[in-house]
Amino acid sequence: MIDLAAVRADTPACHRGVFLDSAGSSLPPVQVLDEVIGHLRREAEIGGYRAHDERREELEAGYGLMASLLGCEPDEVAFTDSATRSWLAAFDAVPLSAGDRILVTEVEYAGNAIPLLRRADEVGAVVSPVPSAPSGEVDVAALRPMLDERVKLVSLVHVPTNGGLVNPVASVVEAAHEVGALVLLDACQSVGQLPVDAAALGADIISGTGRKWLRGPRGSGFLMVRRSAMPRLRPRQVDLHSGTWRSPTEYTLRDDARVFELWESSIADRLGLLAAVRYAVSLGIDPITAAVRDRASYLREGLSSVPGVTVHDLGADQCGIVSFTVDGVSAKEVQQRLATRGVTVTVTGVLSTQYDMTRRALPEVVRASPHYFVSEPQLDEAVAALMP
Ligand SMILES: *Cc1c(COP(=O)(O)O)cnc(C)c1O
Repeated sequence: MIDLAAVRADTPACHRGVFLDSAGSSLPPVQVLDEVIGHLRREAEIGGYRAHDERREELEAGYGLMASLLGCEPDEVAFTDSATRSWLAAFDAVPLSAGDRILVTEVEYAGNAIPLLRRADEVGAVVSPVPSAPSGEVDVAALRPMLDERVKLVSLVHVPTNGGLVNPVASVVEAAHEVGALVLLDACQSVGQLPVDAAALGADIISGTGRKWLRGPRGSGFLMVRRSAMPRLRPRQVDLHSGTWRSPTEYTLRDDARVFELWESSIADRLGLLAAVRYAVSLGIDPITAAVRDRASYLREGLSSVPGVTVHDLGADQCGIVSFTVDGVSAKEVQQRLATRGVTVTVTGVLSTQYDMTRRALPEVVRASPHYFVSEPQLDEAVAALMP
């Protein structure tokens, strides 16, 4: 069980309003904020290099910490400045040529779809969405006949940006691996609210962010690349941290996941991310998952009782993202109306999830994503603010 009073005490801003945007950019606990600001101050006192040196051991231990969160080995972890940066670094390293196929789910995210379509165009590959089952998850039975040896990559979004759906990972990975395809899992909306265990899920590559459910700083991200996948990847965005310039004409690259890191990065944000991971681990991922699911289903129930409100979440087993519309009121207006009552939500539209929103003829939804630090009375407040 999460100690609500304790986590709320660690999150001063959660008392000032009803914060329902942990799928966008969550409120960090003071432990994260202190770490980031403290390091920036230290850099100002002694310079960035010496400040970095003082924290080397801790930063090195960070690979083990992230590995324990993700169920992988420390050398399978890389730190980056966003989930997108992680995803792109890994995707660019997947060899693709004319005639190759890439499969995606119908909840593919725009930030992945655009580079997928662009690269497919450049090399003469084809991107195909796998149909969803009636309940909303990717249909593994429909996936199987689409798989053949031309499929080099399956891009799988664990939890979409626009709703409470949770895609099945292990069964997709198992099917994809039968034809030798790599699976790139976008776990941006799952890490920090759901258990994401690389070993159990089997994905070759996992990308994630700090700023959402982990409650870390903006501009922080991470990447997991299985050792078994490394020899199949050709890292393209490399620098003097990814490799060593051995002679005027020779270089070597690292053979672990850190080949995907660049030398320059925000140490303060990395330390903040590590503080966020420590915070999540100390609460326990299972209690976090249970608390987030509780809040989200309580909110869905409340919203369903409001005349004119329709909840749109797909999936048999829903997580912390709640999506809804209000009859005759645009999502933006709903967001603004809620803001005047101290409730923070976001709007997500067709441009972020084209396949899914086009298929459902849903141009936009309001997204409410309560974390464990939101109390039930606050959810009641949010629902009351929508009552006509
Ligand atoms: C937010 C989001 C991303 C991108 O995360 P960044 O931190 O902006 O790089 C990727 N995929 C999904 C599903 C997201 O919701």
